[in-house]
Amino acid sequence: MNSYNQVSKTISLDQYGIKNAKINYQLSPEQLHDISVEKGLGVEVSSGSLAISTGEFTGRSPKDRFIVKDDITKDRVWWGDINIPFDPDKFGRLYSKMVSYLSNKEVYVRDCYACADDNYKLSIRVFNEYPWSNQFAHNMFIRPTEDELNNFNPEWTVMNAPGFMADPEEDGTRQHNFAILDFSKKIAIVGGTGYTGEIKKGIFSALNFVLPVFKNTLPMHCSANVGKDGDTAIFFGLSGTGKTTLSTDPNRSLIGDDEHGWTNENTVFNFEGGCYAKVINLSRDKEPEIYDAIKKGAILENVVLDGNGVVDFGDTSITQNTRVSYPIHHIENIQIPSIGKNPKNIFFLTADAFGVIPPISKLTPSQAAYHFISGYTAKVAGTEAGVVEPMPSFSACFGAPFMPLHPAKYAEMLSKKMIEAGVNVWLVNTGWTGGPYGVGKRMELKYTRAMINAVLNGDLGLYNYDDYHIHSVFGVAQPRTCPGVPTSVLSPRQTWNDDKAYYTTAFKLTNAFRENFKKFEAHCSEEIRRGGPQRYTF
Ligand code: ATP
Ligand code: MN
Repeated sequence: MNSYNQVSKTISLDQYGIKNAKINYQLSPEQLHDISVEKGLGVEVSSGSLAISTGEFTGRSPKDRFIVKDDITKDRVWWGDINIPFDPDKFGRLYSKMVSYLSNKEVYVRDCYACADDNYKLSIRVFNEYPWSNQFAHNMFIRPTEDELNNFNPEWTVMNAPGFMADPEEDGTRQHNFAILDFSKKIAIVGGTGYTGEIKKGIFSALNFVLPVFKNTLPMHCSANVGKDGDTAIFFGLSGTGKTTLSTDPNRSLIGDDEHGWTNENTVFNFEGGCYAKVINLSRDKEPEIYDAIKKGAILENVVLDGNGVVDFGDTSITQNTRVSYPIHHIENIQIPSIGKNPKNIFFLTADAFGVIPPISKLTPSQAAYHFISGYTAKVAGTEAGVVEPMPSFSACFGAPFMPLHPAKYAEMLSKKMIEAGVNVWLVNTGWTGGPYGVGKRMELKYTRAMINAVLNGDLGLYNYDDYHIHSVFGVAQPRTCPGVPTSVLSPRQTWNDDKAYYTTAFKLTNAFRENFKKFEAHCSEEIRRGGPQRYTF
C-alpha cells in the first residue's frame, strides 16, 4: 500500500453545477500517478515517470479556440481567425452541458496559481475528468502552500473534459473539440481534446488579456533565466525554436520555459510552476538537465516504449510533438521564486528552414520591433515523401495564437520597455545551415549554446566596426568571430558554397517577410518599417 500526504480540506461543487460527483480534491502527484496506472490510463516507464496518450489530439487546435464576445472583450480583442468570437448564451449552454457530463462521475479538482509575483497572482480552480490531466495541472501551475490552500479563493475556473464532445450545430463550435474563454465569468472550458497543452495555454491567453489591459504588464511568450550576477536573459520564439532547450542551462538559474510577464517595477516573472519540453530525439548527452527531469512526477505524452518500459525518443509514430511536463524543481538550477530583474539581453529564436538567416546577429531597436511583429520561423514539411520545400510561418509577437489584443499593443509595450531598460536584442537562427531543409542540416545545439554564452559573457560586444558585418539582405549585424564556434558557421552565405542560390533563397524569404508585414504597416511607424529586410527582389 502506498502512503500519501493527504489534504484535509474538502470542497463542494454545488456552485459549479456538478452534482453527485466523487470529488478527488488536491490529490498528490503520486496519488494521481498511481490512479492513472490502476485505471489503465497510463503506464510507469523505466525512469519512474508516467506515460500517457492524449488521444485524438496530440497538439493544440487553434481553429477551435474561441473568446466569448461580451462587454469586456468586444472593443478590446483583435477579432479574426485567431481570436474567434463566441456567443455568451451559447457559452452558458455549453458550460451546463459540460457540468452535467461531469456530474455522477469521478472529478479531479485542484487549486493552484498562475504568476510567481504575489502582486499578480491569479488563483485558479482546475476540474479534470482524467487523473493525469490533473497531475499536469499540478506540474505546470504554481503549487500553493498549505496556508495558501486554507485561505484559497479561486478567481478563475478551468473546466476540462476530454471525453465530452460538443455538437457543432447545437453548440456553435466548429467541431466536437473546443477551448473557450469567458472573461466575464472568468471560466475556461476545454472539451473533446485530451491535449494537455490546451489547459496551460488557456490560462496563458487569459493572462495575455488581463495583464496588459488591467495591470500595465507585458505578457510574453518567452523563456527566461538568470546568470550568477543576476542578469536576466529572455528567449522569444515559436514552437520548436528552442525556448525550453536553451533556457535550461546548467550555468544559469531557470526562471521559466514558456510564459512570463514584464512588470513596470522592472521585474520579469514566470506565469507557471513547471516546464513542458519537447522530447523528440531527446538525448542525455545533448540535454542532460531535461533528460534527468524525466523521473517520478513527470508525465510523458505520446511517446513509444519498448517491452521493458524504456522510452524510444526517436520514435515519432504517434506524433512529432512528443512532450514531457515536470514541476520546475525537477531542474537543478532554478531561481526561487521564479522572478528576475529587467532583462539585459533578449533573444529572438527562429528555426529558419531556408538556412539564410545568420546563426546569430544583433538587431537595432527598429529591427527588434519589426522582427517581434513579424514573428518569423519556418515550418518544415513533415514526413511526407518527396516534400522538401520549407514554408515560412509568421506569428506576431512570437505567439499570435495566444494574444487576444492587436499585436501592435504588445509591440508598443515591448519597444518602450526595451528602450527604457537598454537591452540588447539578438536574432538567433536555431534552424538550418549549409543550405535549406533537405540540403543543409540543423544548426548544432552546441554552437547555438556557445553563441548565446558568448553574448551573456560579454564576448560578443560588437563595439568596433571590425567586429561585425552588416548582412546585405537582412541588415543585421553579424559577428565575424565567436568563441567556441567555427568562423565559417557564422556566415550563412559561406556555409552554402553557392552565392547565387543563397541570395535567391534569401530574397524569397525577404518577399515573404514583406508580404506578411503589409497587414501591420498601417499600425507601424516609418522607423519600425525600416527594420525589415532590404528591398531586393529577384
Ligand atoms: P514550445 O513553445 O512548443 O514549447 P520551444 O521553443 O520551447 O517550443 P524546444 O522545446 O526548446 O522549443 O524545442 C527545440 C527542439 O529543437 C528540441 O528538440 C532541441 O533538441 C532541438 N534542437 C536542435 N538543434 C537545436 C539548436 N541549435 N538550438 C535549439 N534547439 C535545437
Ligand atoms: Mn517550450
